[in-house]
Amino acid sequence: MTPEPGGVPATEDEPSAAELLTPSVRAAAGALRPGELPCYVYDLTALRTHAASVRRALPPAVELYYAAKANPEPAILAALEPFTDGYEVSSGGELEHVRAAAPGHPLAFSGPGKTPAELSAALGAGVERIHAESLHEVRMLAALAARTASAGRPPVRVLLRVDVPVDHGVLSGSALTMGGRPSPFGMSLEEASEALRLLAGDCPGLVPAGIHAHLASGLDAPTLLRVARAVARAAADLAARHRLAAPEAVVGGGMAVDYGRPGGRFDWEGYGAGLARLARTHPGLRLRIEPGRSLTAYCGWYVTEVLDVKRSHGEDVAVVRGGTHHLRTPAAKGHDQPAAVVAVEEWGHPWPRPAAAGGHVTVAGQLCTPKDVLARAVAAPGLRAGDRVVFAMAGAYAWNISHRDFLMHPPPGFRFV
Ligand SMILES: *Cc1c(COP(=O)(O)O)cnc(C)c1O
Repeated sequence: MTPEPGGVPATEDEPSAAELLTPSVRAAAGALRPGELPCYVYDLTALRTHAASVRRALPPAVELYYAAKANPEPAILAALEPFTDGYEVSSGGELEHVRAAAPGHPLAFSGPGKTPAELSAALGAGVERIHAESLHEVRMLAALAARTASAGRPPVRVLLRVDVPVDHGVLSGSALTMGGRPSPFGMSLEEASEALRLLAGDCPGLVPAGIHAHLASGLDAPTLLRVARAVARAAADLAARHRLAAPEAVVGGGMAVDYGRPGGRFDWEGYGAGLARLARTHPGLRLRIEPGRSLTAYCGWYVTEVLDVKRSHGEDVAVVRGGTHHLRTPAAKGHDQPAAVVAVEEWGHPWPRPAAAGGHVTVAGQLCTPKDVLARAVAAPGLRAGDRVVFAMAGAYAWNISHRDFLMHPPPGFRFV
C-alpha cells in the first residue's frame, strides 16, 4: 500500500493524479450530471500520444501486438491500430469481438484451455497466428486444420508457448507470475521441440513459426530484458535445430505499471535500446512484444461523485456512487487507486453538507462489503458530499474485470474524449 496515493507524490517532482488530469477529462468530470455518474472517461488523445511514444522507443523491426484483454473497447482498439502490428486475443469471444472491431488487423490467438470450437473458429476466421499452450492443443489444432485447410487460405503460423527457464529469482519481484512454477500456461522446451517436430510433418494449413513466452507481469525494463534475452536465445536455438524458415519469438507483455506513481512510466527507451541490441544478437529472428496494461492503464478515468461523508472510528470515510463492481482494480491488486478531487460548489439541500473533518479520506463504494474500498488515505481536505472524485489509471483491467452485476446497481456511463 502506498501511504498517500491521492495527492501527495512520492517525491517532490512526481505529479499527483490531480496534476495529471487532462483538461478534457477535467471538463467532462465537471460537466457530467449526477445521473450520468459514475462514468468512465477515456482520453483517446492521451492514449495516442502515449502509444506513439512507446512505438518510437522500440526498434522498427520489433513488432508490437496489443493484448486486447487489458481493455477491448472498440474505440481503444481503433485508437491503437496505427501504433500496433496486431492484437493478441485470449478467447473465442475476444477473437470474434476484436476481428469485428478492427477488421484486417493481424491477430494472435493465445490462452490456456482453447476448446475445439474456439480453434475451429480461429482457423475459420483466418487468424494469422495461434499461440499453442500444450502438445495436446497442437495435436488438436493439427487435426482440425487438416479438416479445414483450403488452397486459397494462407497457413496459420503456430508459436509454442514455452515456460522458458530464466535465472532463479528474476521473476520473484513480479506482480503476477505465470512461469517458473506449476501453472496452466505453456509447455517445457522439450515439449516445444516435440511440437515443432509434429508441425514439421504433414500438417496442412499450419506453419511452425517459433515460440511465445509471457512469464510474468509487473516487471521493470532491466528484468524484462533479462527475460527477453532468455526467450530469444531459446527461440534461436529451437529455430536452428528445427530449421524454421522465418522464426519468431514473442518475448511477452507484463511491463510494470506503478499505481503509486500515476506520473511514472515503464522505461520504454531503455527497453527499446535493449531490444535493439537483442535484435542485433539474433539476426533473422523476428521479435515481438505484447503489452496490455502499460499501454491503456493511463488513458482511463473513473469519474464519480461523493454521496456521503461520515466520521467512523476517527477516520473520514466518503461513500461514492459506484465502487469496485465497476473498478475492481484496487481490490484485485490490493492497492489504492490514485484519485483527484474536482470540487462542486452547488449544494441543493437545506441541511448541512457532509464534509471531511481531516485531511485524508477513505473512499468507499456502494457495495455492502468492507472490501469495496477504492482508496485509503486520499489527500482530500474538507471533501464534501456532491464533490466529484476522479480515479486515475483506470484504463486497463478495470471495468472489464469487474463483478458488474453484484448488488444490481446501474452500470457506469462511457465517454471518449
Ligand atoms: C495478459 C497477457 C499479456 C499482457 O499482459 P500485461 O501485463 O497487461 O502487459 C500478454 N500476453 C499474454 C499471453 C497474456 O495473457
